[in-house]
Amino acid sequence: MITLNNVSKWYGQFQVLTDCSTQVAKGEVVVVCGPSGSGKSTLIKTVNGLEPFQKGEIIVDGISVGDPKTNLSKLRARIGMVFQNFELFPHLTIRQNLTLGQVKVLGRSEDEATERGLKYLDRVGLLNQKDKFPGQLSGGQQQRVAIARALSMDPIAMLFDEPTSALDPEMINEVLDVMVGLAQEGMTMMVVTHEMGFAKKVANRIVFMDKGVIVEDCPKDDFFTNARSDRARDFLAKII
Ligand code: ATP
Ligand code: MG
Repeated sequence: MITLNNVSKWYGQFQVLTDCSTQVAKGEVVVVCGPSGSGKSTLIKTVNGLEPFQKGEIIVDGISVGDPKTNLSKLRARIGMVFQNFELFPHLTIRQNLTLGQVKVLGRSEDEATERGLKYLDRVGLLNQKDKFPGQLSGGQQQRVAIARALSMDPIAMLFDEPTSALDPEMINEVLDVMVGLAQEGMTMMVVTHEMGFAKKVANRIVFMDKGVIVEDCPKDDFFTNARSDRARDFLAKII
């Protein structure tokens, strides 16, 4: 579903990604972790073309992301992305947040978009919040709306960049529970997170990055019991 072959990226002189290769098969959950500044956000943003890269190749569902002929907005519409900071439209109600992209990007009717949006809002347990504005919801609730909004677009895969790291501790689990449910239903997911409980529960593989390099890419059990690199072992010792 998602393949990265020797992806390298520079910001000016600074090489932020070096020969990164990995794959996410259909239905697989891959957790990306590593120290701050190691390039996790940059890597995940290259997958849907939010960040250009200079070398290598990324193929998503058969489409080459780096090919100048690829219609990136069309590709992005098919890949759900959830960031650290919710990014809901503050001046729109929850219902309007859920329908906007479906109508504007997918050309669905208001009625159809509302029906789908509310179905996913119900799924994340927030149907009764549909007429509120984002600012009236807690961080955890806003993040669940962001997930529902992404799902309303019928994504072929979901990318998450530290979706719980801006949340108060008591709200982290309500978001992780939604993500665990998605994983168990077979959604293809690439998740940057330090929530190793989540990784242990649903990840198929763990990608560990350090200084722009993928240092480990292995089944989760190998990573937790048997990480090969000192850097991964240090990292685990610090966060678990
Ligand atoms: P964190 O855990 O803090 O979110 P990260 O692993 O997601 O870190 P990135 O945000 O991908 O790391 O950043 C990787 C490196 O690239 C960092 O050294 C960062 O300073 C640098 N960087 C990121 N964005 C830019 C940019 N727009 N211009 C120049 N350098 C950048
Ligand atoms: Mg980051």
